[in-house]
Amino acid sequence: MVDRPASPLALGISECLLGKAVRYDGSDAAAELAGETLARYFAFQAVCPEVGIGMGVPRPPIGLYRATDGATISVLQVDNQQYDHTAALQGYAQQQASLLGEISGYIFMKNSPSCGLYTVKVQNSSNPLAAPERVGRGAYAAELTRLHPHLPVEENERLFDPELRHNFIARTFAYAHWQKLQQAGLSAAALVSFHSRYKYLLMAHSQTHYRQAGQLLSQLRPYSNDLAERYIGLLMDGLSKPTTRAGHVNVLQHLLGYLKVLAKKSQRQAVASAIESFAQGRIELREPLGLLHAVLAEHLDVPQIHYAWQQVYFEPYPQAG
Ligand code: SF4
Repeated sequence: MVDRPASPLALGISECLLGKAVRYDGSDAAAELAGETLARYFAFQAVCPEVGIGMGVPRPPIGLYRATDGATISVLQVDNQQYDHTAALQGYAQQQASLLGEISGYIFMKNSPSCGLYTVKVQNSSNPLAAPERVGRGAYAAELTRLHPHLPVEENERLFDPELRHNFIARTFAYAHWQKLQQAGLSAAALVSFHSRYKYLLMAHSQTHYRQAGQLLSQLRPYSNDLAERYIGLLMDGLSKPTTRAGHVNVLQHLLGYLKVLAKKSQRQAVASAIESFAQGRIELREPLGLLHAVLAEHLDVPQIHYAWQQVYFEPYPQAG
């Protein structure tokens, strides 16, 4: 089994978020990123697709427009809709998709008709007075995510939220671990060993994905790349679901089960009581988690205990110094 990745991970990012004055009006968007916190985990590879396709700075503003067929959405220059940048931005995303092959995630600038990931404004070409719909994805972001469907992605502003940030960082580290495994060579045994470490993290995020991953791996032989692709799709999708207190309690109780025979009764009771306090909202997750991990660590010579102790759930990513 390959080792888990260490910080910093290579990450793609919209260049304006790193303080480069590449926006259409010559400004940057550094203030819109929790840059200091994120830089503890990531080495950024910055890309400005609009500059990349030769639009220059400053440049006329562009936007997403829905064509009269109701389905096609294009990136057009706002003051002259003869200029269509859609194909150029898609082509640039295709180039970057291979150049950025080693990245383990991507942070996109919100609301941009090139980089925005969620709810970008889409105007109606045939009815300029109609209120814009908030349903679009920037042309560059759409193409890049189509080509790398499992790559962890997020918008800058959402990463100010500690929960969403934690979730995103955890996904990037899981994905980087998967990339290392791919480089080392995937096989049925490697896949089972990989999943054995992510099992309880996945369970905490989504019981449904946990069950589906188990079913998928039960059909593992003969091994196929298609199956590995479906597995990583399930894992990444499952990890993107928010955890709940009840979900954590369930996982902690499962892990406590590993101590049934070996640990002293007083140790088991101490962990059970910490889990109960956490369930009632009286203490933070880190308390039962730390206690349980420490008790498991006392019995690492027992294979089942070692299995529980090495769960990624205990530390989804390395703590920044
Ligand atoms: S949002 Fe994207 S295209 Fe716009 S300035 Fe930032 S990096 Fe460039």
